[in-house]
Amino acid sequence: MGVPDRLKSLIRDVADFPKPGILFKDITPLLADPCGLSLAVELMANSWRDNRPDIVVGTESRGFIFGTAVAQSLSCGFVPIRKAGKLPYETISVEYELEYGSDEVHMHVDAVKPGQSVLMVDDLIATGGTMRAACDLINQCGGEILGIAVLIELAGLGGREKLKPHEIHAQLTY
Ligand code: AMP
Repeated sequence: MGVPDRLKSLIRDVADFPKPGILFKDITPLLADPCGLSLAVELMANSWRDNRPDIVVGTESRGFIFGTAVAQSLSCGFVPIRKAGKLPYETISVEYELEYGSDEVHMHVDAVKPGQSVLMVDDLIATGGTMRAACDLINQCGGEILGIAVLIELAGLGGREKLKPHEIHAQLTY
């Protein structure tokens, strides 16, 4: 079995979660597997080793798991992007549209300095809306987005188009 198929064998499909019609990619079996976890993190980090970011930014909440691990692998620091009301200090925020209604992501105002090179990390890109909002936050504070690293890309939902012109490295595509 090749590497992508080994990793895919550790990702569980859960139908109709969190709502009817969604096929949820459950990464918890992969996280629980020592080889699967280190392989996933190293693959996500490897493409940025020659052109390392200054800092890694991850979005709540599975972006924290992979983002912190990738940051450590690249010897970088980590910055969390969170939902409204979670971060204790002064924040900047971006509102973005959901299928029904809208949501907001926040980051500490001093977390990313102007001109810093930033690697964006999450577990999965679907429509790209969450990552687009996260990238908009980095642009707002003057950070330079080096690229986007995700474990999983659900192709055909428009994520790649929404995130142009950023370079996206996805390890597994469905
Ligand atoms: P999107 O904003 O549509 O790209 O959705 C990406 C965010 O929602 C990521 O943080 C994912 O963790 C989560 N997500 C969306 N769709 C799925 C799915 N089918 N399985 C697991 N997580 C998902």
